[in-house]
Amino acid sequence: MHIEVRNLNKSFGDFHAVQDVSFDIKKGQLIGLLGPSGGGKTSILRMLAGLESPSSGDIVFHGKRVNDLPPQERGIGFVFQNYALFKHMTVYDNIAFGLKVKKQTKEQIRERVMTLVELTGLKGFEHRYAHQLSGGQRQRVAFARALAPEPQLLLLDEPFAAIDAKIRTELRTWLKEMIERVGITSIFVTHDQDEAIEVADEIMIISKGRLEQKGSPWAIYKDPQTPFVASFIGESTIVEDVGALKGFDSAAGKPGTKALIRPEYIEIGKPGEIRLASAALEANVKHIHFRGSEWLVELEVGSVKLVTYRSLEKDVLQPGDRVHVLVHRAYLFNDQESWIQENS
Ligand code: ATP
Repeated sequence: MHIEVRNLNKSFGDFHAVQDVSFDIKKGQLIGLLGPSGGGKTSILRMLAGLESPSSGDIVFHGKRVNDLPPQERGIGFVFQNYALFKHMTVYDNIAFGLKVKKQTKEQIRERVMTLVELTGLKGFEHRYAHQLSGGQRQRVAFARALAPEPQLLLLDEPFAAIDAKIRTELRTWLKEMIERVGITSIFVTHDQDEAIEVADEIMIISKGRLEQKGSPWAIYKDPQTPFVASFIGESTIVEDVGALKGFDSAAGKPGTKALIRPEYIEIGKPGEIRLASAALEANVKHIHFRGSEWLVELEVGSVKLVTYRSLEKDVLQPGDRVHVLVHRAYLFNDQESWIQENS
């Protein structure tokens, strides 16, 4: 289903939970709504579902304005974080529920339920009740139940939030493959950036009721368009004194400009280890932390603090070591503008 949202607003009293949000979603896309708690993600999802009516703006499905259509006529399936399975029903009956409501024959229902049981890897579990299933299995039942009536749009609100970290990672991959296979347009809410980056075709970053940026995970990571997006996605440090960084003189000339620097944009080496040493800053190693696949190194360049990674193959650094530092790329911003600068 192709979705257009135009100038969507939602106020609760004089609080503006969603402000002037517009976007398009193409048929078959998997979209992640990502942002801090209270930003308005769930409110947007509920308005798409018809569970909440917009204060103003238009919601258009397939070229048709649906603002006044009740939820059951919008062709939507839901998956919530707390599974919301019917506890007194078996897996089979949970999945069949939406089909019974549609008054399908027993045979049609059986065929559809068994297709979904196969698709979601729940064969053999049809006669179990919710309490006899693991969290991951319950969420797969919730997914099968949502898909059973063949909705045009699937809405998922924090679908992995209540699941253990390890199973969550498996379930994410599973869900992405499933959604691709079924080809259904889907939108999921999350506050976990790794989840959004791994799962979504496109991410919409929502903060304080506004849509900050929409794009592929890579585009958002590489070319953030607002300081909020730059600092929310990925790891970074913010340097207030841009003049302390070599090669950013033009930025330093603009009052109030700060630099946001990601760990991977920084090259470090012991004296002699780094090329272009003449362009490098002198820094002091403050702390090192082992992270399994690399070291995290905290540096001090005068009063400026930077964070970067160091691979395990290189000599181990120690707190107090003097190192050379090259900053290859920075996201620069002030009250008027933001831009990315590369230092080659
Ligand atoms: P979370 O990740 O915590 O679920 P969210 O981004 O989904 O947050 P929303 O649930 O959409 O955010 O809430 C946005 C804001 O609107 C919050 O400040 C919330 O308190 C407020 N809000 C939501 N629903 C209502 C309501 N029915 N009445 C009053 N305020 C509400």
